[in-house]
Amino acid sequence: MNRNQDKLIDPLSLIRPKIRDLKAYSIDHTPSPVILDANESPFTPPRKLLERMLVVMAGTPMNRYPDMEVAALRSALARKEGAAPEEVLLGNGSDELIFCLILAMMEPGERMLVPTPTFVMYETIARSLDREPVATPLRDDWSLDMESTLRMIKEKNPRLVFLATPNNPTGRKYPIEDIETIAGATAGAVVVDEAYIDFSTDGPYGLLHRNRPNVIIMRTLSKMGLAALRLGYLLADRAIVKNVNKVRLPYNINSMTQAAAGEALLHWQEFVPLFAKVREEREKLFAELNQISGIHAWPSEANFILLRVDNGAAGRVFNSLLEHGVRVRWFSGHPRIGDCFRVTVGAAHENSIFLAALKDSL
Ligand code: PMP
Repeated sequence: MNRNQDKLIDPLSLIRPKIRDLKAYSIDHTPSPVILDANESPFTPPRKLLERMLVVMAGTPMNRYPDMEVAALRSALARKEGAAPEEVLLGNGSDELIFCLILAMMEPGERMLVPTPTFVMYETIARSLDREPVATPLRDDWSLDMESTLRMIKEKNPRLVFLATPNNPTGRKYPIEDIETIAGATAGAVVVDEAYIDFSTDGPYGLLHRNRPNVIIMRTLSKMGLAALRLGYLLADRAIVKNVNKVRLPYNINSMTQAAAGEALLHWQEFVPLFAKVREEREKLFAELNQISGIHAWPSEANFILLRVDNGAAGRVFNSLLEHGVRVRWFSGHPRIGDCFRVTVGAAHENSIFLAALKDSL
């Protein structure tokens, strides 16, 4: 054997430098009695429905690939949204759709605009693909700073603008007028990420792409109690769906998800009271939080609340909450919300445990 060729390669040297520097999306999975850090629903689907979902999952042929076109599920979602199946694209969670959109709609080096703070995956995915995220800071009440947003659009010419509304982690929903102004001002596309729309008081914005073909609506089943299925979807102009579909990997929606989500959609009205329950609990939790001295909570249209812990106590309080068995999301080290927690609205008993633990921790 030629000794010169017999060198051990440092495996890290095989990874692109940009990826080495990237921070992985991470969630703490240490078991905890009260989990309020991932914006999940505290409710699984109603029992009868869950049983029907399990039956159809059990009936999927394990030796066969899934339906690559996901025809039945696309039609079911199109029906639910009043759209045509050709206006619907499915992803393995909306995370995957963010990836597909950036890949299909932006060249390397092109810019993407994100009002911040917002969902980190837009920036993380853009960076991993050598696209360039540009931030436009939200105002202190977390509304869009339209003046600076429009200026950035002019100066940076972004190919994509990501607007999560209600926004994660601020909980603020943007007025439709702002979305339309942005869509009218940009030469690129605007992704309206409606992951939390079911928890907002006046619901979705509608099929905006019908009047403005550069608007893309993004949705997910994750927050309605079906996070385990990993199903996200886009509603967009047919030409956009047809072309973004080209970068979707074959069979990205597995057969069990296709079967179970199809069944759940037949009965999606059964989820509606659960949204109302979350909204009701959110308002109770919000009122209680703002009674606590040392805490400032912002109003929310989502299934979580952003709150600030005053006097530099965030780290101590976060650890104390963990000791009390309650896990929330702390934005440790963040330049703007480093003293803030995002707490998912749980079931009534979970929210009570959280509030008691918080009061005890301050
Ligand atoms: N968009 C927003 C605004 C989110 O907060 C999340 C989940 N945290 C997602 C998209 C991704 O959701 P999923 O991949 O579960 O559909």
